[in-house]
Amino acid sequence: MKMGWRIGIGFDAHRFAPNRPLKLCGVTIPHEQGLIGHSDADVALHALCDALLGALALGDIGQFFPDTDPRYKDADSSIFLREIVSLVRERGWRVNNVDITIIAQVPKLAPYRELMREKVAELLEVEVEAISVKATTTDQMGFVGRKEGIAAIAVVSLLR
Ligand code: MG
Repeated sequence: MKMGWRIGIGFDAHRFAPNRPLKLCGVTIPHEQGLIGHSDADVALHALCDALLGALALGDIGQFFPDTDPRYKDADSSIFLREIVSLVRERGWRVNNVDITIIAQVPKLAPYRELMREKVAELLEVEVEAISVKATTTDQMGFVGRKEGIAAIAVVSLLR
């Protein structure tokens, strides 16, 4: 009998840089710096993409969307997510729930939490109740604490 559920985890981190928009969970957040990467460096969506690929045991986001590919230069990471969600569906799975933790010393993310939930729900085409977005600092320790960048962890569960 085929397993009726799967879980997956994803992690990512990106460095702050000037003159970049800060995108988290597909939402542009006002801040003096953004994150740098080949794409829009949406660290939360990248962690979520890896969690979905992990649940499917299909590898990681770098295999699907290599950072050497000029097509993905400054790409909106919601494109990656939508493509991976279509893989989830093609393989007969649906997203049951998502839990994302964004690890950032700055900026304060609480005012944007609901917006981020709604955006992820829209991208995954699931109810907003199925999506959790949390934020934490590292109490000023490590690269996050020194405000060098932002990290994110995502966990997903899929049902047949
Ligand atoms: Mg990334």
